[in-house]
Amino acid sequence: MAELLVQSSHWQLLLTALAFVALAGVEMLFPLSGDRGLRGRRWFAHAALFLIGFGVVFVASPLILKGAAWLQGALRFPPLTGLGLPAWLLVVVSFLLIDLLAYLNHALFHGVPWLWRLHRAHHTDTVLDASTGVRHHPLESLAGVALQLIVFAVLGVPLLVVLAYGLITTLWQFVTHADVRLPESIDRALRLVLVTPGMHRVHHSVRMDEGNSNFGMVLSIWDRLFGTYRRRSAAERASMALGVEGDEGASHLTTLLAAPLRP
Ligand SMILES: [Zn+2]
Repeated sequence: MAELLVQSSHWQLLLTALAFVALAGVEMLFPLSGDRGLRGRRWFAHAALFLIGFGVVFVASPLILKGAAWLQGALRFPPLTGLGLPAWLLVVVSFLLIDLLAYLNHALFHGVPWLWRLHRAHHTDTVLDASTGVRHHPLESLAGVALQLIVFAVLGVPLLVVLAYGLITTLWQFVTHADVRLPESIDRALRLVLVTPGMHRVHHSVRMDEGNSNFGMVLSIWDRLFGTYRRRSAAERASMALGVEGDEGASHLTTLLAAPLRP
């Protein structure tokens, strides 16, 4: 299992770097806002946050897995893998469960004050581009991964699907935060099922009612199902104010790392 974690982390780093370069290229060709004034400093801070978070999660993973395995044994919940489902159905059910948990996890980070302190650094960005996708406080990354691994160990979801989902969400977050001008007809069609840049931009609105909506990670169905789906027209999205009211959205690494300490 430890070897699988090491191998998957290598792939995750490589694919994350490649996906970021690809998305940054698309943003240059088809920019939505084209706001590039802050990019150098932000990109450095975001890359550093990602690498610190990645390192913290990597170091803590064996301990989290041990704890999860102990909990699994203590609770004796019937594992998903023991239901005798065909492999393809097991993967589909696992993916849906993980994405539902990611939705609930995200809503939790907005609803619980001390978790919001960890998540706030992600929302203080006043411009969005692909790099915002990895602007997460390392403690938020750790708490999110720990929660997912524990729940999935208890449910008995295959670890391979959990790891694949982790990679897919990292890559998909580049897409959903990208500063790209996607034709509205395509965005509208895609967001029937998927979280799109147009849908996720509303989640970064400075307005609290909009910030507390569109929590979905990969699939948009959970927001539609639980009534948290919000939409704005393409023209409104292009000019809407982003960030957190009263928080200036500094993109220095030290400010971002200290964000949870601010009241
Ligand atoms: Zn959020």
